[in-house]
Amino acid sequence: MKYVDEFRDPKQAKKILKEIEILCLEIELSEDRPIQIMEVCGGHTHSIFRYGLNQLLPKKLDFVHGPGCPVCVLPRSVVDNCISIANNKDVIFTTFGDAMRVPGSKQSLLDLKAEGADIRMVYSPLDALTIAKNNPEKRVVFFGLGFETTMPSTALSIMQAKKIEVNNFYLFCNHITIIPTIKAVLDSPGMRIDGFLGPGHVSLIIGTKPYDFIADEYHKPLVAAGFEPLDILQSVWMILKQLKNGEAKIENQYKRLVLDDGNASALDPISEVFELRDFFEWRGLGSINHSGVKINNKYRDFDAEVEFKLKEVTVTDPDVCQCGEVLKGILKPWECKVFGKECTPEIPLGALMVSTEGACSAHYSYGQNIDLINKK
Ligand code: SF4
Repeated sequence: MKYVDEFRDPKQAKKILKEIEILCLEIELSEDRPIQIMEVCGGHTHSIFRYGLNQLLPKKLDFVHGPGCPVCVLPRSVVDNCISIANNKDVIFTTFGDAMRVPGSKQSLLDLKAEGADIRMVYSPLDALTIAKNNPEKRVVFFGLGFETTMPSTALSIMQAKKIEVNNFYLFCNHITIIPTIKAVLDSPGMRIDGFLGPGHVSLIIGTKPYDFIADEYHKPLVAAGFEPLDILQSVWMILKQLKNGEAKIENQYKRLVLDDGNASALDPISEVFELRDFFEWRGLGSINHSGVKINNKYRDFDAEVEFKLKEVTVTDPDVCQCGEVLKGILKPWECKVFGKECTPEIPLGALMVSTEGACSAHYSYGQNIDLINKK
């Protein structure tokens, strides 16, 4: 296939859906429950709701929304640290748009910007580096977040800053890694995931080989998947086929972009600039060992945590927030007490309502299950 509308062809979708329906009837689970497939990536969550795939698939199949939206898993304490950096008069704080709306314990970056702080939305860390070059009297901080997908561009901007000797540029590094996170999901008590839709963008960087342990040690299938409707349906079909045959393999549906060995040009700058943290705190999931990275000693001068002497603090979510339960797949988004009432994409109470990739925002924006709110 060559053009995007071919990946949205309703005739092909109907054919795959028919085969999925047959496979679902043929798969026998040891417990009386739906087959559960976790889409790890927030991009898949968005596509599933945008195209209504969850409504087209048989009732015997259920999607569990995974922790793959980096904005959604940002703890309040990190937002509070951003606020404390941005409150310095000599700082220009830069970040991607979504991160500006995540609530901290008292306010978001957008609230602080409204009060006059110099907080700027950028499209890439290189934009932030340009701001630093143009404002040598200011300290310019880039708030780096995201999985392996966004790490290479952050790493390259730090390498460039060192090369051209821009000494007023800092990174507040909150990049996270996918493999320990999937492992934490697999190790969580009561885990009932039958297979994984593997994250397409992350796989583009790391390849498919790092997922081998999921099949070898946990005996679960994973299919690295693209983001168009037929990509997702084909990947679900591939997972179900494995389940029916009693197999657990790592497969690659997204071959047009993902290589088994990953992308060396992207992996090299990551290992040049970053090292693993001992642990990283996730909203709703708690602390996960080795699930985040920090700037290594070679590039220490660019580390905002060192420059601003940031402290590790833990800030819990308000009691009414049920983001943790949604992130673990215990609750569906619309089952949260405040979904669509106190918490909406316009005024998000929890982080899952902020990004379009957040499960709550995707449910809310595409108008599904809204009738369920009224029944509560
Ligand atoms: S509705 Fe809001 S508070 Fe509830 S889980 Fe979703 S984002 Fe969190």
